[in-house]
Amino acid sequence: MGLAQIKGHASIRRLIARAVARDTLPPCLVLTGPDGVGKRRLALALAGMLNCEALTAHEAGGAAASPDACGVCGACQRIARGVHTDVILVEPGETGSIRIDAVRTVVSQAAFRPFEGRRRVVIFDDADRLVPEAQNALLKTLEEPPAASVFLLVTSRPHLLLATVRSRCPELRFGGLSTDEIADILVARYQYAPTAALAAAASADGSVARAIETGSSDHVQARQSAAVVLRALAAAPNPKRRLEVGKELAGVRRGSRSSAAADRETLTRRLRVLGTLLRDLQVVAAGGDRAWLANVDLASELEELVRSYDTDRAGRGFASVERAVYALTRNASPKVVVDWLALQI
Ligand SMILES: [Zn+2]
Repeated sequence: MGLAQIKGHASIRRLIARAVARDTLPPCLVLTGPDGVGKRRLALALAGMLNCEALTAHEAGGAAASPDACGVCGACQRIARGVHTDVILVEPGETGSIRIDAVRTVVSQAAFRPFEGRRRVVIFDDADRLVPEAQNALLKTLEEPPAASVFLLVTSRPHLLLATVRSRCPELRFGGLSTDEIADILVARYQYAPTAALAAAASADGSVARAIETGSSDHVQARQSAAVVLRALAAAPNPKRRLEVGKELAGVRRGSRSSAAADRETLTRRLRVLGTLLRDLQVVAAGGDRAWLANVDLASELEELVRSYDTDRAGRGFASVERAVYALTRNASPKVVVDWLALQI
């Protein structure tokens, strides 16, 4: 994949094309902007441009043609399959965080010359999930970056990165995609019918991910119960009431097909959604831009909740949700997890 396969974001594509052509790319970049607009795709396209074995020419919005990844050579194919040895994608683990060991591993790899390509590209997706110790571990490398490595931090919540990390990395700010661009993507990559694609795109506020998500009834339900739980916990100082709220959170419809595994999965999904709301509350409490919210349509609800959840409480709540999800993945009893969580948030 190269720049030619990226929809929208013409000025960012121009900037990247020029920096690669002139070899002036900074050793570290933060790619920010709403979820689901193509930040990670652009990071992968850039990795392609830096390692493609058969560069082609790309016309970036009227500017002179510049070298672009071909998308078909061995290197491009290995990048697309996620197996190129010099293009390393680091994502949150099952706990929802990127831990310090993951950073230590890539930092030690980055100290060596690339194995097969020209530049080593390390992409942190959801970089705001780097725990503070991991960010600190990365900081040293960002201060004295190895010559042949580029670090790309992809995040829709850049203000949750440490100020020291942000100050080292120039930011590329992505805006939302246009309705037409989203509809095109839904048709081309997700097999939507054109009319359905336009309808989904219209209410997606610039994000492909949101266009797809807002349609799923599971997601709508999970968000509703998560918001109800936060409201209830906000107004529940005593432990007894809190445990009752926890029960509601764990409460799953006991249908004939319900199983312990399905219940666990439902609860995990609800907790992840609860996590996004608490994350959003941190954003609102910190005076962050609405564009960074994962649940932008719940903005007024969040403004209401932020009276009870300041940055600290929302942050602690989010950390507790992460621990709860981790415990569930390690087969802890849902009841024990939910009871504990209800007392933490
Ligand atoms: Zn190629």
